[in-house]
Amino acid sequence: MIAKLTIENLDPAAVLGRRALVRVDFNVPVKDGKVTDETRIRAAMPTIEDLKDRGARIVLLSHLGRPKGGVPEPKYSLKPVQAVLERLLGMPVTFIEDPASPAAVEATRHLPRGAVALVENTRFVKGEETNDAAAAQLFAALGDFYVNDAFGSAHRAHASTEAVAHLLKPAVAGLLMEKELEYLGGALTNPKRPFVAVLGGAKISGKIDVIQNLLPKVDRILIGGAMACTFFRAKGGKTGTSLVEEDRLEMAKQVLAKAGDKLVLPDGGVVAQGLDKPDTRRQVAWNAVPDGWGMYDIDPGTVARFGKIIGDAKTVVWNGPMGVFETPPFDAGTTAVARALADATAKGAITVVGGGDSAAAVEQAGLAAKVSHVSTGGGASLEFLEGKVLPGVAALDDRRP
Ligand code: ADP
Ligand code: MG
Repeated sequence: MIAKLTIENLDPAAVLGRRALVRVDFNVPVKDGKVTDETRIRAAMPTIEDLKDRGARIVLLSHLGRPKGGVPEPKYSLKPVQAVLERLLGMPVTFIEDPASPAAVEATRHLPRGAVALVENTRFVKGEETNDAAAAQLFAALGDFYVNDAFGSAHRAHASTEAVAHLLKPAVAGLLMEKELEYLGGALTNPKRPFVAVLGGAKISGKIDVIQNLLPKVDRILIGGAMACTFFRAKGGKTGTSLVEEDRLEMAKQVLAKAGDKLVLPDGGVVAQGLDKPDTRRQVAWNAVPDGWGMYDIDPGTVARFGKIIGDAKTVVWNGPMGVFETPPFDAGTTAVARALADATAKGAITVVGGGDSAAAVEQAGLAAKVSHVSTGGGASLEFLEGKVLPGVAALDDRRP
């Protein structure tokens, strides 16, 4: 992985008084005109504060939701974010409604040093999602240099994440982007060993590229979640009504043969007669799920085994919950693994959590601050773990030794 320039590499003169066009990820939930979870806005604050302290004039770009094909829809307006920003920054924030208007460029030119403007949803602009040159030019006119702090959008080649980075120079990473690349990239390219990956979630089909990419790099891969059930079935186990991908049994067999001892499956799990019948739950061996029962979590024996391996690790990457963590008590295995990561971190291991649901599970367990890094990019972190080049990262300027 080639290291990218970051805002920390910029000379004071390259920042002071200049318009920083900053792509952030403010794709936040909004209800009745109010932001209901400001985590992503807070995550961008270090970059905004840094540029502000250095006297830049800051112009923020983000998408929100999925408006159809460049057509403005009021429910996807970024306007509710303006109030949150003003509260967090303790100063007024200019809202630029139409980035295509001459007034928009004027507004950015009139920003005082250290002031902040927020531009309306990038997806209201035609050509944003098709990485169109004209859309990129329109965005580029709003800044003098480019900063990408939207790791969560970096897997998409859009005008505000990719094309614009070729038009505005320098094009550098923000502090959140830098942190994501440092932790995820560090684990994949230069891990302290033992290096352990923990994979779970619903489907093996969605994670097969992650498994293939990680297998040669890791010392161990621990598998949980429904994904494990597809492996159980491939090994001839009875899986009852558990979520199994029948059409991936061949794929699972190939992975098992290739991985050998590296791949560690649960010995057993927690089954029930349905997700809505938690009182029927009991523990069974991996190959003995009764007909009509489904496996919804890993069992305490597996938690202990996984916990020991995680406890001995120096680097841990976790993607995908160990069970149906959204429905207690089937969150027990996932919470226990989160705690194992926290304990390993306290002993000096680097622990990284990637994936939207895994991040939510660690938050839910109250352990987000006890692991080294929880990625803010769901889909982006998955593609990163698959070994893919993220277009929004590739487009940024390389750091020269
Ligand atoms: P991430 O978003 O972290 O990449 P995934 O989207 O791959 O994770 O998987 C998360 C989903 O997997 C959750 O909705 C969870 O309920 C589901 N899941 C995990 N284990 C099981 C299981 N045993 N049976 C059914 N669903 C499961
Ligand atoms: Mg998910």
